[in-house]
Amino acid sequence: MKIAMVSEHASPLAALGEADAGGQNVHVAQLAAGLARLGHDVSVYTRREDPGLPDRVELDPGVVVVHVPVGPAVHVPKDELLPLMDDFADWMAAHWERHGDPDVVHAHFWMSGLAAVRAGRRRGVPVVQTFHALGSVKRRHQGAADTSPAQRIELERRVAREADAVIATCRDEVDELRALGVPTDHVHVVPCGVDTGHFTPDRSDALPPGVPPAVRPRLLAVGRLVERKGFDLAVRALALLDDVELVVVGGPPAGALHDDPEARRLLDLADRLGVSDRLFLVGQHPHEAMPAIYRSADVVLAVPWYEPFGITPLEAAACARPLVGSAVGGLLDSVEDGVTGRLVPPRDAPAVAGAVRGILDDASLAAELGRRARTRAVDLFDWSVVSSRTEEVLDAVARGVGAGGAAAPDWVDEHTGELETALASLRR
Ligand code: UDP
Repeated sequence: MKIAMVSEHASPLAALGEADAGGQNVHVAQLAAGLARLGHDVSVYTRREDPGLPDRVELDPGVVVVHVPVGPAVHVPKDELLPLMDDFADWMAAHWERHGDPDVVHAHFWMSGLAAVRAGRRRGVPVVQTFHALGSVKRRHQGAADTSPAQRIELERRVAREADAVIATCRDEVDELRALGVPTDHVHVVPCGVDTGHFTPDRSDALPPGVPPAVRPRLLAVGRLVERKGFDLAVRALALLDDVELVVVGGPPAGALHDDPEARRLLDLADRLGVSDRLFLVGQHPHEAMPAIYRSADVVLAVPWYEPFGITPLEAAACARPLVGSAVGGLLDSVEDGVTGRLVPPRDAPAVAGAVRGILDDASLAAELGRRARTRAVDLFDWSVVSSRTEEVLDAVARGVGAGGAAAPDWVDEHTGELETALASLRR
């Protein structure tokens, strides 16, 4: 198949750990490579965020990243990108007209879905949608702090209905789609993945500069430094655990952490709780260095308020590290409570500390949880497994929906007018 992937804000070439770069970037890069290994020809369309970027970059054999020149060639926060999506779609449709249509377009994130539906309907290309996160869930948990465009939830509902298939990454997401009123007969569950060849339990390579060797039993938390990831909860749990240290990886590079509001909040909290000497905020590290960092940990923490999927629990599992996680979202599928780690209620620091203590105090339990986590990661979540399951959905959709050249539904164009003003300001 000739597959067009759309990932409007999350380039597979981006550095990870900063505010808008996380699991989706990894997902798109790995899935594109996995599909290419299965013999498909994959083009990833992402917005050009830097004038120096070439039009096309070959990422892997069979995978090309196409930089779509819409909007200013600088980083624009993802919550401000909606006004650019019509231009994004038009650019893709024109590109396909010149270079040949793909067999299927696979959109990642809701705004990519808008662009994919518009371009796909114009060119008669069927659309598969992966949301990665749902606005309805974000709004529930973040309330007024949610900076997503007001139209997000309604447009997501429509993208979900309009797409020829939706790939949900966990069962919880299917329930959320159902709650939005989306019929789920075209929804398939395919999880996010992990490279179990890169993330391995063996202990050969050294820690990267900036990450100190462990001097006490080590807890590790990895992710973008945003409030909902619950790093503060990890710090509170640390205060309940004597003689344990916590390493937090993510956010800006170490040198710029003092300018990061969430980093400062965590450091202040640690200071107040008297655990500053046992907390190491080490900033962003290259993805290649992550396995060694996971291997330095005794227990990995993933204690978000909510989590659409969460790749870090899979990475911990592939490195045979037991995980203590919140019983929310994708963690309900990626962690088997009592088998590969422990799931605890969200926002409950004593529960986190208790689960950690139970694992740290029982070395054979810790080893057994880690061993089973690794086996489960290899069997269910390796990118080769995830790519094959995604291929099945893409293939069925590509074969099942004939080229129609149908017009985009009205609502795709509807939002254009009202957003012209925002677009004008963005272009200035
Ligand atoms: N990551 C990384 N370096 C960092 C911080 C994070 O490589 O400094 C990677 C991490 O290994 C994982 C991804 O970023 O692959 C985070 O994905 P996840 O799904 O856990 O969170 P998201 O950011 O998508 O909410």
